[in-house]
Amino acid sequence: MSRKPIFAANWKMNKGASETEDFVKSFLSKTQGMNFTSEIVIAPPFVSLPKLADLLHTATAGQNAHAIQIAAQNCSEYDSGAYTGEVSVMMLREFFVHYVILGHSERRSIYGETDAKINAKIKKAREANLKPIFCIGETLAEREGGKLESVLRTQVTQGLKDISEKDLNEIVIAYEPVWAIGTGVTATSEQAQEAHAFVRSLIAEIYGPDAAAKIRIQYGGSVKPGNAAELMAQPDIDGALIGGAALEPQSFLDIIRNGS
Ligand code: PEP
Repeated sequence: MSRKPIFAANWKMNKGASETEDFVKSFLSKTQGMNFTSEIVIAPPFVSLPKLADLLHTATAGQNAHAIQIAAQNCSEYDSGAYTGEVSVMMLREFFVHYVILGHSERRSIYGETDAKINAKIKKAREANLKPIFCIGETLAEREGGKLESVLRTQVTQGLKDISEKDLNEIVIAYEPVWAIGTGVTATSEQAQEAHAFVRSLIAEIYGPDAAAKIRIQYGGSVKPGNAAELMAQPDIDGALIGGAALEPQSFLDIIRNGS
């Protein structure tokens, strides 16, 4: 089963509209004449989505522009109404958003998002035909306490509760060990492969072997140009979710090139 790798830039709370424009112009000029074999996604802050949509998905956008998909970093589990500060899936659709990052460890730890809430958001995203990038991963204490598998099992089973196989086919899982996010410490390729193989086996348990063979599982956690090739060479790693190293066009491009 061949799975198309997916490289997604998670800019977190970085880059307003003008920095978004600088990044995209530079990135596109560096990719002149290149043919991407992987899927490329950029997730800017909400306020930069209109600018990104203009740059990538209007009639005047450059050739490679259409090869880049837009992601949001979050969405509401509700349709509309009195939810101050929230953004709905239908609002995201207006800006050519195709993916939405859900369950990121920063949403879980700083904003208290539970597995149940993440599950509700995944369902809402699928109602609007958005593709969730569903993040899971253990803390260092959980890993050192021998709880890696039980933590991943809970996050996967609760996060995907009552999600049909048809919807699962539109979901990307991002395995992101919390201890590797933004720390400069990367999981070794063996550690990452072991966790990815376990997550794939969980999907096989719930949905069967075909769904497990199809689902893309990205690795995230201090991915850089220098470690992308080794990580991406692992049989169960299908791309990367990249924070810090995706803030510079050259570094993001080098990760895609080295990892593809
Ligand atoms: C992330 O935010 O999802 C991430 C993996 O960040 P970093 O690449 O900076 O570790």
